[in-house]
Amino acid sequence: MNIPAKDDGAGKARVFFALWPEPALRRQLHALALHYQGACGGSVMRAETLHLTLLFLGEVSQENIRKLQQQVDALEMAPFSIHLAHIACWRHNRIAYAAPEGETAPLQTLSQALRVLTDTIGVEFDRRDFTPHVTLLRKVTQAFESQPIELPEWKVETFSLVKSSTLNGRASYRTLKTWRCT
Ligand code: NAP
Repeated sequence: MNIPAKDDGAGKARVFFALWPEPALRRQLHALALHYQGACGGSVMRAETLHLTLLFLGEVSQENIRKLQQQVDALEMAPFSIHLAHIACWRHNRIAYAAPEGETAPLQTLSQALRVLTDTIGVEFDRRDFTPHVTLLRKVTQAFESQPIELPEWKVETFSLVKSSTLNGRASYRTLKTWRCT
């Protein structure tokens, strides 16, 4: 995932907080995407880019990124687990995604805590409800009904602030900072 960004200068960066699965789970998610591509078409996300966004911030100044990192340094979050239990499609943005079912309380707590900290420093963000999902395919041409999937538990021990940019016409991500859940 540590792809060099085009510009690390003093300007703004497009950033988001996210969970990144361990390589073994990423590989399984990627295999699932390849399997479902036959049914829904579209482009499979590269394994190293698979993630769950906790809070998307958009363009943030370098100064506010520094402030944000300082705020999050003080956040205490215990490790938790997620069970990605189904794969489905959204027609409005033409993605296929894996998502948890049932108890997602720690996930909601972490996302909400990041919202509160972001508010504290006055950075604007999209305030729509948090809908946890891992995008597996983009530009799908044929949406399918939700299907159960079999994946091991995702043990979450870290979360990251990530910079998003487009490189040669495709999205790339670079981790700016990772925090450990303790
Ligand atoms: P991205 O748009 O920077 O998104 C990064 C992550 O944040 C993704 O998980 C995305 O969720 C989520 N996200 C984006 N906007 C959000 C919002 N308003 N509210 C909540 N979550 C949000 O990078 P990307 O997902 O790789 O790119 C998505 C599409 O945007 C691609 O078609 C890309 O070409 C295009 N795009 C990218 C950039 C860039 O600089 N990366 C700039 C303009 C357009 P989802 O996975 O559900 O999308």
